[in-house]
Amino acid sequence: EATKKEERVSFYTGSMQEERAARLVLEHDLKKAIEQGELFIEYQPQLDLQQGAISSAEALVRWRHPKRGLIAPLDFIPLAEESGLIVPIGKWVLETACTETVRWQKKHRKPMRVAVNLSIGQLYEKDFSRFVKQTLEKTGLAPAHLQLEITESMTMNTKLIVPALQELKALGVTIAVDDFGTGYSSISYLKDFPIDYLKIDRSFIRNILDNPDDEALVKMILSMAKHLKLKVVAEGIETPEQLDYLFHNDCEKIQGYFISRPLPYEALEADYQAIQQF
Ligand code: C2E
Ligand code: CA
Ligand code: CA
Ligand code: CA
Repeated sequence: EATKKEERVSFYTGSMQEERAARLVLEHDLKKAIEQGELFIEYQPQLDLQQGAISSAEALVRWRHPKRGLIAPLDFIPLAEESGLIVPIGKWVLETACTETVRWQKKHRKPMRVAVNLSIGQLYEKDFSRFVKQTLEKTGLAPAHLQLEITESMTMNTKLIVPALQELKALGVTIAVDDFGTGYSSISYLKDFPIDYLKIDRSFIRNILDNPDDEALVKMILSMAKHLKLKVVAEGIETPEQLDYLFHNDCEKIQGYFISRPLPYEALEADYQAIQQF
């Protein structure tokens, strides 16, 4: 996605060989990251505009590297995807997100849904839905409290993805299409895929109040979603004006720095009350 690439600071400044070497070192480190406890999850709350409350959060993985410090997901998820490490990392994220969400629910005695990002490589795994089922049982998270986010680019692989999503839906989890509008794919998949939510990409939200083209696109997505009985999450809300706009245009949920940055699990607990009041 363009916005992410612009903001992304490159790790590598050296020659091709140096880049290759640096990648190999990073891949080697990433292999050990899970067992050494270097990965952790931050949760970004989503505000339900109808309830006026936080009822869900997106799980976003981070890597605390012993030498390099904090590494953002865009600087290691692509490497994880290319090397196949995304499978164990994805399992770790799912299990940890479910465990921490159950702990949160017990402590606050409130429902909370968690949204977990998936990579295509995870859906290629034969027993992925069985792993999800087992994880729900093991952690005690209700299936309705788990949302799985796929990206629009993944929908091009219809033959693989439709049966995989149907198996997941049968467990009772919900499915969201992330970064909607940026995947350069035909939107005909919306008819056939078992989808519950569309997430409008931040790049459309950013100038929604001063760019009539962006406004038209967002309105079109909201109206299409309504007809298709899909709910919408708008991403990248940074100002009260953007919140107002989406509220008045019947968007179900919003997520963004204006509501909250992604927070460590403990901070999500602490901030819940404060956020609810606003
Ligand atoms: P995403 O799924 O689109 O997640 C939203 C990203 O936008 C997050 O970046 C979040 O911190 C950022 N964001 C949220 N609100 C705002 C805002 O108001 N303004 C701005 N400028 N940015 C905002 P993050 O955490 O760096 O994650 C980047 C991407 O990495 C995610 O994009 C997702 O594609 C991927 N990712 C993160 N965790 C996982 C994971 O566990 N598995 C997989 N497969 N991918 C992951
Ligand atoms: Ca996402
Ligand atoms: Ca997104
Ligand atoms: Ca995005």
